[in-house]
Formats: sequence, structure tokens, C-alpha cells
Amino acid sequence: MSENRRVRVRFAPSPTGPLHMGGVRTALYNYLFAKKHGGDFILRIEDTDQDRFVPGAEEYIIEALKWCGIEPNEGVGFGDGPCAPYKQSERKDAGVYAQYAKQLIDSGNAYYAFDTKEELDEQRARYEKMGKTFSYNAVTRQELKNSLALSEDEVKRRIDAGETYVVRAKMPRNEEVRFHDLIRGWVVVNSSQLDDKVLFKSDGMPTYHLANIVDDYTMKITHVIRGEEWLPSAPLHVLLYRFLGWEDVMPQFSHLPLLLRPDGNGKLSKRDGDRLGFPVFPLTGELLDIKSGKPEKFTGYRESGYFPEAFINMLALLGWHSSGNQELFSKEELINEFSLERVSKSGAKFDAEKTKWFNQQYLRMKADSELASLLVKEFPQVGSKDNAYLTEVCRLMKEKVNFVREIYEQGTYFFEDPTVYDDGVVKKRWNEESKKFIAAVKDAFASAGDWNAAELEKTFKGTAEATGTNPGSVMQLFRVCVSGAGGGPVLFEMVALLGKETIIRRLEAALNNIK
Ligand code: GLU
Repeated sequence: MSENRRVRVRFAPSPTGPLHMGGVRTALYNYLFAKKHGGDFILRIEDTDQDRFVPGAEEYIIEALKWCGIEPNEGVGFGDGPCAPYKQSERKDAGVYAQYAKQLIDSGNAYYAFDTKEELDEQRARYEKMGKTFSYNAVTRQELKNSLALSEDEVKRRIDAGETYVVRAKMPRNEEVRFHDLIRGWVVVNSSQLDDKVLFKSDGMPTYHLANIVDDYTMKITHVIRGEEWLPSAPLHVLLYRFLGWEDVMPQFSHLPLLLRPDGNGKLSKRDGDRLGFPVFPLTGELLDIKSGKPEKFTGYRESGYFPEAFINMLALLGWHSSGNQELFSKEELINEFSLERVSKSGAKFDAEKTKWFNQQYLRMKADSELASLLVKEFPQVGSKDNAYLTEVCRLMKEKVNFVREIYEQGTYFFEDPTVYDDGVVKKRWNEESKKFIAAVKDAFASAGDWNAAELEKTFKGTAEATGTNPGSVMQLFRVCVSGAGGGPVLFEMVALLGKETIIRRLEAALNNIK
């Protein structure tokens, strides 16, 4: 690649379903790389395979990138730039690809093939019988129906008669194809391993391979950063750059490692998410599943209560590591630190617990007042409490939880009187003596002058001393009486916040209701 070209990268998903978190990671690394180098990040939709088109998938991809805060500065859904349109079906209609298919044929690097589906199936069956796998390649093409095996007249006759055909890439018989991958180093493949892939169809539709190369070239892409599953296609792409005379502007390749299951055993799939109970998609939704032909529901990180900052921080570290031990990165820090050289070759194990940890860290970093407004958004019923009260609830609870919703779920007693009491604590601690103590504390609190945590704790301990009770043996029971729960935030701060009236009412209720 010639130096001093402006860095331009692209995320090029096919709209075949919801965007998997592995796809989000690919988009993220492209984004970080572009921002780090002051370049452009493009969203291109690769929809040449109309059989696999899923309505709504493109919108899903766009919304997911927006939620993650990794927005392209050019491309479908993000404003037209100099290379519009950015959707391959529209580029096909604009006549972008046909000329290059023709150029490849004219230069002898591609050819017409007329074999029908039935004929190719027959070949496959024939090879299978011999215990071999059929491949359309430098050896077999001689005996098949294509412009290399048929006479020129015959080819012309077929095309003039409107027969359907495909254009196939003509792989050299025995040639070394090599390219330097920024993550994997030198990759060398002999062309005898490659088959003659279909590049173009007579209806004018290019296949992925041709469209991908033509678009990367015409969009002036400098670096191709994509998943490992595309590594086997890269030698063909390198050859196409050569055939088209574009070698000097060929992008640099980087093939990202796979995302693995938590046990390291195989690729992380959408089924693992269902099975192990964590999201594998950024947003919750429902889209057609191509395999089953039925709509399928799926769960997202957004709806599961994750902050987008936590989600992308976690994703950034799935396959990449910084120069030190730092784990928490703002987006700006990620941009500064990111480099493809520190992306690992081997698969990255997904860790659901660690993902929760990231969310917890981001939750703790948020201001109490921001958490309060997020809480009201999620649980409108808490909106009846004033803002100062909600902010204080969040301050007390934020160290205890991983998600905003847990502030409410684990701290419901900040909003409602308890109706059930922790069974274990009651069984162990509720007796005539402790009951007397609770009654005494109730009276002491009822006549408390200053209602603040320090004073309340003093009063509590004073009452224990006066009644000859070990405070340690009744502390948790007292907590259960006022909140129902055996654990929670700092006890007397919680009591102070709940307020005198509530505490007295709850202690009375506990004395009446706990058996
Ligand atoms: N359309 C391909 C995909 O869906 C893109 C591969 C590439 O980035 O070259 O992943």
C-alpha cells in the first residue's frame, strides 16, 4: 500500500439477521482504528445475496451502532459521502460492477460458465461416488461447459440466445499467493488450493467476492479489518486486486480472532446465549431466521440493562489488550491506545461474569443523580418520591448492584413496606428477648431528636446496653424488621433515609406480624 493515503476503513455486514456481538466488535475495531488515525469509518451494506435478505436487519445494524456510540461518518444510515450509494444492490443498479466482470474476462482472468445447477449437482454426485469432493477449478474446468472449454462460436451463440451464465474467476494452476496480515503475519497459499469462484451472474448481480473488491477499491479503503471467517477468501481477493491492476492500492488485511464460548470450546453462537443465559446481540428484537424461515426473538445487552460504554469496553478487550494492565477505558482512551498489532491471533473467550463486572464499574462511576433519573425511567412508579430521596437511594445502593434495575429490585423497601421477612434471620434471631429489644428501639427512635445516621446508631447501641443485649446479635434482625431483607446498604444510613414515620410504622408491623 502506498503510504500517506488517508485511512479509510469499512464495516461491511450482510443484512442476513441481527448483528451478533462479534460483528459489533469488528465494527468497534474499525471505528477505533479510523479515529486513531484521523481517518474515515464507513458502513457498507453487502446485500448481493438476495436469498438471504432479512427485512429489518439493516435497520437493526444501524440502531445497534448508534446505541454503541460507534457511528460511521459515511455510509448507509449515516449520510451520503463521496462514494454513495453504499448499499451493494443500489450500486449494482448504478452499474458499478459489470464493467469489472468484463475487464476480468477480457484480460483472461475470468470466464463464462454455462453449467446448470443440475449438471453441477451431477458432478458433485459423481465425485462423491469416487470418494472425492468436486471443485470447479483449474483441472475440472477443462471438461465443463465454459468459455475456456467451448469454442468461441458456441460461447457467442449461447450468450446471444440469452442463456443464463455466471462469470468465474480463473485461478492460476500452481502459483504462490502471499499477503501480509497485520495480525497474522505472512499468509501463503498455493493457488491450486483455490476453486474458480463465481464473481458475477447474468442478471447483472455480482457475488460477494467481486462486489467486495470493487467496493473496497472504489471507496478507497486502506485497511480491511474483518472476522477470521473471511481469511480463506483473502487469497482470491489478493488475486483479484492483481488481475484488475490495483495491487498498488490493495488494502492491508487484518483478520480478527473468533469469539469463543465461555469454556473455550468452539465459536460463540446465538444458541449459547440462550443456553447459558447471556445476550449475544446488542439489542432485543425479532427478525426472520433464514434457516427456519420463521421469525425469531432474541435478547440484547441494551434491554438487559447494560450501559453501552460498558458493553464496548468489554468488547474492546475481547481479542485486544492494552500495553499495561488497565481494563477500564473510556472511548477516548480506547482510541488512543488501540493498535492492530496488539490484537491476538487466537480466539477470545467470552466471560459473562466479567461483562457484568464491567457494567458494575460503569454504574459506580455514574453520578447518583444520573442513576436516579435512569431509575425513574425504568420504574416510573418510583417517580412519586422526590429527587433528593431517589439520589440518596442510588448513593446507598450503587456499590451493591450490577444494573440500575437492581437498585429497585434489591431495594424495593425504599419504596414499599416489606410484607415478607428474611426467613433464615427470623428463625435464628426472633425470640422473646430480641422482640423486647426491638420494641425498646422503636420507643427510643420515636423520641429521637436528631434523625441522622450517627445519632440513630448511638441510640441503637444505647438501647442495647440498657436492655443488656449484645448489639451484634440483633443488628441483622433489626435490619430485617425495617426492610424485610437480611442484607443491604449501610444500616443506619438506610434507616436515616427511610425516615422516622416509616421506621416506627415498620417496627410496629414487624412486632405484630413476625411469628
Ligand atoms: N459481507 C461480509 C460479512 O457479512 C463482509 C466481509 C468483509 O468485511 O470483507 O461479514
